Amino acid sequence: MSVPSWAIRFAASLPNVMTVLSGMSNLSQMEDNLGYMEDFRPLTEAEQAVCFEAARIINSQIAIPCTGCSYCTEGCPMHIAIPQYFSLYNEDMREDLEEKGWTVNFSNYANLTGKFGAAKDCIACGQCEGVCPQHLPIIENLKKVSAHYDH
Ligand code: SF4
Ligand code: SF4
Repeated sequence: MSVPSWAIRFAASLPNVMTVLSGMSNLSQMEDNLGYMEDFRPLTEAEQAVCFEAARIINSQIAIPCTGCSYCTEGCPMHIAIPQYFSLYNEDMREDLEEKGWTVNFSNYANLTGKFGAAKDCIACGQCEGVCPQHLPIIENLKKVSAHYDH
């Protein structure tokens, strides 16, 4: 089974779910989706447990579980590139920084701050947290980003 099939079948197996939307960018992805949705078989309990275990492992390796939807950025009065900064930070948290001492993300961050507000510019107005579908503590997370990159 393809990786996306697990995600789509997981969603489609939940009670009261009648429709699942799937982004597709080519014919083979559509054929894959149709392959398991035409004759739909809900996840068994064992398969569902595999999904939860995979999610636990993935989440344990992500410092800030931002999905990059960008809903938070439009209303930010300081024009802070919130999801981009979270993405750079997540990458760096997976690195052995003690050993490396530096990653290319420090340059990437510096480049972004030429165009957008820096993490340290956050005025804690809370606009972003009110619209984040993941209910992330964005202000606190930006403090961590700032401690990492703003020197
Ligand atoms: S709390 Fe900070 S990041 Fe969020 S909208 Fe306000 S200034 Fe922007
Ligand atoms: S709204 Fe939340 S999940 Fe979406 S990009 Fe902003 S911080 Fe990430």
